Amino acid sequence: MSRATVALGASPRLRYTRSGLPRRHGLGETVAEGEERSSEALDQVAAEVRVCPKCELSRTRTHAVPGEGDPKARVMLIGEGPGWHEDQRGRPFIGNAGKFLGELLAKAGLSREDVFITNVVKCRPPGNRDPLPDEIAACAPYLERQIAAIDPEVIVTLGRFSMARWFPGERISRIHGQPKRDGKRLIVPMYHPAAALHQGALRGAIEDDFAKLPKFLAEAEREREVETERAGPASEQMTLF
Ligand code: SF4
Repeated sequence: MSRATVALGASPRLRYTRSGLPRRHGLGETVAEGEERSSEALDQVAAEVRVCPKCELSRTRTHAVPGEGDPKARVMLIGEGPGWHEDQRGRPFIGNAGKFLGELLAKAGLSREDVFITNVVKCRPPGNRDPLPDEIAACAPYLERQIAAIDPEVIVTLGRFSMARWFPGERISRIHGQPKRDGKRLIVPMYHPAAALHQGALRGAIEDDFAKLPKFLAEAEREREVETERAGPASEQMTLF
């Protein structure tokens, strides 16, 4: 059993995250098989990222930062790129912005262990400059593989570079906190915690947006239930195992 998972009494084959969210898995596989498949895929991405030479950022990084969290998280958070602290430790969202992110997740009844956190580029841009288009493009396949492995119901984009993947040409000040559906997921654009941390107006906005996450999750879950019903009784049966 993963460290983010506990079994509850009533239905021993259903498993839940620490925050009480039911676990998910793909049709035709058990929860455990789904977790194992996802973990292996994420481990493979992380191993490749740590030695990746595909863009200029590989020359200046101390540690690549593949991302971390629950391999079957219902919520995936995607930031811009590692900062100094993250580069030193090889972990995403540590330091003050990471502490603030933990507080924001708590507002939604979640912890870091319940979600998966990563970035658009996995290596630190020198001097914390913006990632360049060719760097984002070179790193995009890793992000796509992480999304495919985790299959989250909700993706939260943090800042404009991850937002641009789903909302090209949009301004975050106009659309933050307003989800859009992308296939079977909801994509929710939000401000980056580092930007919001020291600006009162943005801080209030990101706090309000995170507080809406349980509502977005419930909406996404309803959608998946409808999908399961459409897929037929055999697939409903699978959700019990
Ligand atoms: S930023 Fe991405 S593409 Fe560039 S070196 Fe790091 S892992 Fe590779």
